Amino acid sequence: MSKVRFATVWMDGCSGCHMSFLDMDERLLDLLPYIDVVYSPLVDHKEYPENVDVVLIEGAVSSEEDLVKIRKIRQKTKILVALGDCAVTSNVPGMRNRFTVEAVEHRAYIENAQTNQQIPNKVIPALLEKSRPVHEFVKVDVFVPGCPPDADAIYYVLTELVSGRLPDLSGKTHFGA
Ligand code: SF4
Repeated sequence: MSKVRFATVWMDGCSGCHMSFLDMDERLLDLLPYIDVVYSPLVDHKEYPENVDVVLIEGAVSSEEDLVKIRKIRQKTKILVALGDCAVTSNVPGMRNRFTVEAVEHRAYIENAQTNQQIPNKVIPALLEKSRPVHEFVKVDVFVPGCPPDADAIYYVLTELVSGRLPDLSGKTHFGA
């Protein structure tokens, strides 16, 4: 049996969902015979490859860079999993949505800056007007709520997917911590 080509992506999130992924601890070793990690912030691959079987997406879509990235990922991936409340609802990144981008940037880079008060326009990707959940831009195959989802839920999702089944998460996850 060929291994599942597996990826994880970190967009506008805090890395907590990836930490929960790592909290599977020794169960990660149980998965290794069945998956090939082809892209992730946890490994050193620079480009999102073609023909990915399963991707876990942490975080909301908040910038123009995120938007380009998620569309490219969708084209290259069979099963896309929205991992965690930020990916599913926009959650914490969405807290800025009641303010304008200009107000948010002014608060961050002018009012709260101790030195060098200026709004960056080169290195930082331009923000979208609102931070949005992944499914508002691309089709999502599996939603895994939680902030973060616990390691047991992530393990269940992955074991089902590597077995060729879509996981039924009824009663296994909840929003929030
Ligand atoms: S869902 Fe929670 S843990 Fe995951 S990226 Fe968002 S804030 Fe962090």
